[in-house]
Amino acid sequence: MSDAGFASPSSGGMITPARQVTDDEVIIGLEIHCQLDTVTKLFCGCTTDYRDDEPNTHVCPVCLGLPGSLPRVNRKAVEYALRVAMALNCEILPESEFSRKNYFYPDLNKGFQITQYDKPLAAHGHLDIEGDDGEKRVRITRVHMEEDPGRLVHKGGADRPKYSLVDYNRAGIPLIEIVTEPDLRSPKEARRFLNKLRATLEYLGVFDSEKEGSLRVDANISIQPKGWFDRTGKGKPDRGRAEVKNISSYKGVEKALTFEVTRQKSMIRRGQKLESTTRHFVETRGVTTASRSKEMEQDYRYFPEPDLRPLRVCDWGAAIVLPELPDARRERFMVQYACTPIHARTLTGDLRLAEFYEKVADIDPVLAATWVADTLLGELNYRDMGLAVVPPDVFRDLLTILKGGTITDKSCVEVLRVLLDQLKEAGCCDTPGECVDRLRLGVLVVPAGASSEDPVVCAAKEAIAENSQAVADYRAGRREALNFLVGQVMKKTRGCAKPSDVNRVLSDLLEREG
Ligand code: ZN
Ligand code: MN
Repeated sequence: MSDAGFASPSSGGMITPARQVTDDEVIIGLEIHCQLDTVTKLFCGCTTDYRDDEPNTHVCPVCLGLPGSLPRVNRKAVEYALRVAMALNCEILPESEFSRKNYFYPDLNKGFQITQYDKPLAAHGHLDIEGDDGEKRVRITRVHMEEDPGRLVHKGGADRPKYSLVDYNRAGIPLIEIVTEPDLRSPKEARRFLNKLRATLEYLGVFDSEKEGSLRVDANISIQPKGWFDRTGKGKPDRGRAEVKNISSYKGVEKALTFEVTRQKSMIRRGQKLESTTRHFVETRGVTTASRSKEMEQDYRYFPEPDLRPLRVCDWGAAIVLPELPDARRERFMVQYACTPIHARTLTGDLRLAEFYEKVADIDPVLAATWVADTLLGELNYRDMGLAVVPPDVFRDLLTILKGGTITDKSCVEVLRVLLDQLKEAGCCDTPGECVDRLRLGVLVVPAGASSEDPVVCAAKEAIAENSQAVADYRAGRREALNFLVGQVMKKTRGCAKPSDVNRVLSDLLEREG
C-alpha cells in the first residue's frame, strides 16, 4: 500500500519559483512493518528463530511455496495482530481477507506474498504521542497482516555486490504492517511516533525491538505550502513527495527524513520540480538516493488468496485483555512514585526501563527516578551500552549507599562509572560497597570543631593559601568568589566532601583569618 493515506499526487507538481520556504510545512506518513514475536511462522510450523542458524534450515514445503502445499493461519499471530490493533484504538473489521501480491524478486520464492489488501484486519485507529507542540493524535489508517519474504545476503560489498545469496529462513515470519495518516510534521515527530509504537508493541508482549531487522519503515515525505493538508484529508495539487523505502533502524528514520527535508527545501528554493520518487536510504552515508523503481511501480495484480478462508475474528477481542500500556503506566508513575512528568515519560517510554525502575523505586522513588532516568541512562548512552547488562541489584545497592549518606552525589557518579566500565569489559562488576572502599570514596564527614588535621579543613586552608585573588574578592563582598573556592576544595577532596560542609569550613576560616 504505497499511497495509503495520501491524496494521489498529480504527475507534475506546480512549483512557484523562489517561494518562501518558511510558509511551508513538512508532511510525513509512515508504513511500519514489525515482526510479530511468535514461536512459529505465519502459515506453517517452522520456527521463527532464524537469526543464529544456518541459512535455509528452517523451511518446509509451505514457506518454500512448493506446489501442492497449503498454508494454515497461525492462530497466535492473529491474536498478536489483534492485540496491536486494539492497542492502537483500531476498529476490527468484521471480515478480513488474505490476498496474493504478485511480483518477481529472488527473496520471494512463491512469486507472490500473502498479505491483506482491500480487506485489512483493522482500520481507523490512533496513537497519541508527544508532538512538536504538545500532545498529538496520530491517526492510524490500517493495520494488516502479511508474511515476511526471504532475506538476500549480498556478497562482496554492499554497493556493488559480486553475487547474492538467498535465505528463506525468514520467509513466512508473521509481520504486522501499520500505516499512518500523513499526520506527522517533522522528522523528530516521526521518531517519537516510532518510539511510542515500539514501547506499545513491547508492552503488549508481541514484539522484540532488540532483534535485528524486526522493524522496517517506509516513510512518505513531502513539503507543501502551509495548510495544504488539512485534517479533512483533502489535498490540493501537490509538489510531489518522496517515499523512502526500507529503513531498518529507529535513528535511520529520523536521519533519512532530515536529509529529505533539506533536499526538498533546497529544490523548492531553486524552483526545481520535485518528481514523486522512490528513494533508498544509505545508512552508512546518511543520505537518500533515487532508486530504480521498476518493481515498485508495477501492478501487483492482487487477488484473494484461494487457499485461505476469510478471517472473522471480531469476537476474539472480547477474550483479549490488554496489559497496562505506556500512557497508563506514565500516569501511575506520577501518582504512585511522585515522578515528574518528564521522568515518568522517560521511564515508561521503554518496557525494560520501566521494569528496571520499579525494581529499585522502593529505596526512594524520587531519588531513584533521577538516578535511573538522568544519570544511569546518560552514562549508558555515553558508553553505547544497553540497560540489560546492569543488574538491578547492583543499582539497588548503589542507591542504598547514596541514600544512607555515606557517599556524596559526585562519588556516586564516580562509582557508577567504574561499575559500568567493568560491566562493559567483563560482564560483571564489584559490589558498589567494594568499589567505594577500593577507591576510598567514602564521604569525608567534618565533625563540629574539627581539628586542623581534618582533611577537609586542610584542603580548605590550601585553597585559601593558593587563591589570594579569590580571597580578596570574597572579602571585597563578592560572594561568588566563595563558590570558586568551594570548587577548589571539592577538587582537592576528590568530590568526597559534602558541599555544605566545605561551605561552612571555608566561611569559618575566612571569617577567622579576615
Ligand atoms: Zn515452513
Ligand atoms: Mn507490506
